[in-house]
Amino acid sequence: MLKRVLIANRGEIALRVLRACRELGVDTVAVYSEADAEALHVHLAGEAVCIGPARAADSYLSQDALLTVAKAAGCDGIHPGYGFLSENADFADACAEEGITFIGPSGSAIRKAGSKSAARDLMRKAGVPVTPGSAGPAASVEDALQTAEEVGYPVLLKASAGGGGRGIRRCDNAEALPAAWAEAKAEAMACFSSGELYVEKLVERPRHIEVQILADRHGNTIHLGDRDCSIQRRNQKLIEEAPAQGLTPELRAAMGEAAVKAAQAVGYEGAGTVEFLLDGGHFYFMEMNTRIQVEHGVTEMVTGVDLVRQQLRIASGLPLDIAQEDVCIQGHAIECRINAENPAADFLPCPGKVEFLHFPGGTGVRIDSCLYNGCIMPPYYDSLAAKILAHGANRLEAIRKMRRCLEEFTLEGFPTNADFSYEILYHPAFVRGRCSTAFLEDHLPELLDFSRRVHEKEADSV
Ligand code: ADP
Ligand code: ADP
Ligand code: MG
Repeated sequence: MLKRVLIANRGEIALRVLRACRELGVDTVAVYSEADAEALHVHLAGEAVCIGPARAADSYLSQDALLTVAKAAGCDGIHPGYGFLSENADFADACAEEGITFIGPSGSAIRKAGSKSAARDLMRKAGVPVTPGSAGPAASVEDALQTAEEVGYPVLLKASAGGGGRGIRRCDNAEALPAAWAEAKAEAMACFSSGELYVEKLVERPRHIEVQILADRHGNTIHLGDRDCSIQRRNQKLIEEAPAQGLTPELRAAMGEAAVKAAQAVGYEGAGTVEFLLDGGHFYFMEMNTRIQVEHGVTEMVTGVDLVRQQLRIASGLPLDIAQEDVCIQGHAIECRINAENPAADFLPCPGKVEFLHFPGGTGVRIDSCLYNGCIMPPYYDSLAAKILAHGANRLEAIRKMRRCLEEFTLEGFPTNADFSYEILYHPAFVRGRCSTAFLEDHLPELLDFSRRVHEKEADSV
């Protein structure tokens, strides 16, 4: 087992990794930017080192600084968390060159899966269904126009290096394509330092269903069931649940097998996620995220498997200690991402100082957060303030538990989307389930109407 792990991240995922390390008896070294000196993960780590100024490019994204600290502190592993350098193949290679274990797949696997356009090609060849669209990146606007003509409008222009919903533009006709191309390219350049784009046919009102994968170094690849992440704003997830509701056993098995095939096609090792779009009974490969995902906790709640612990075991060279037939899904789990943002102002991020905080608790409730009373959420990073997870015997029980959690949750100091999420949990379409990714857009006005009283909702809803 690894002995001393550098946690190259911040926020709740840094805390999550720290907890898994502690439970395995692995030493932890946290890093922090000047803006995070008072952060909880810094207080709780065995050791903590400042790696630079607030700007992520000068701290959490600085490969040199991270490797220097890792070597000086005698670390034998680096956990990248999600975001930041977690899907950076060069960083994975650089760690290997220094003899430090990157807790994730190899640089080569990240490269194959990380370019979304190249991954589509690879998956098609491996027999995994993909949406109609470009084979490889689009070389030019003309190339994109031709592909769009072939597959039919509407299409999406997507960044090959994309993530977090960025660098994606919808395009309804040929006239609109050049402008959408320029916008997507500019955003992709700004976010990922790569302007490479590709074309995908837009699937109308699909569900976002993804499958959790674990693969070890000894040739074992298993999946841990599916998650539904269709409740999104601007292609970014807000509420996730496991398992996805209403999949036939055949469809579920086919998606699980396709995900395993996808992981094997890139020589995958570690925890990963294969994302699909579901359109009726048809599913299409969308992308593979070669890291731990924000919403991994709902899978942990229904399987009882600690995914970060598995990441650490796999990176230490140990074989998986669960077989596919051991994976058993129990009950239903829902996660609400609580962001420092104002849903009424187009979800504008608005972090600040936490003046008062109370988190819900109780049976089947899990909180992943670095917030504490009096702490300051810096404006430089992600607006994710907390994840609230609720587990119930079935979906309705999980929904009811989550409503209770959101009633109890109190945060004073800056706006959050907690009330907005509460409205979603009472919305009849959400309660019915099987919502498409268009749910939020379709119901935005009524979801933003917080004026209805709680007991009125209790009366007319389950
Ligand atoms: P997804 O990318 O499928 O939306 P998550 O919601 O788990 O997956 O994203 C994890 C976090 O990392 C989000 O906060 C997102 O903004 C960020 N992120 C994802 N991919 C990238 C990337 N390539 N570069 C920078 N940040 C990213
Ligand atoms: P990211 O890497 O930013 O997570 P994804 O490729 O996973 O990008 O897409 C993000 C979201 O955009 C999906 O969850 C889905 O809601 C929407 N989306 C992506 N591709 C399509 C498509 N071809 N048709 C319809 N919606 C799509
Ligand atoms: Mg995605």
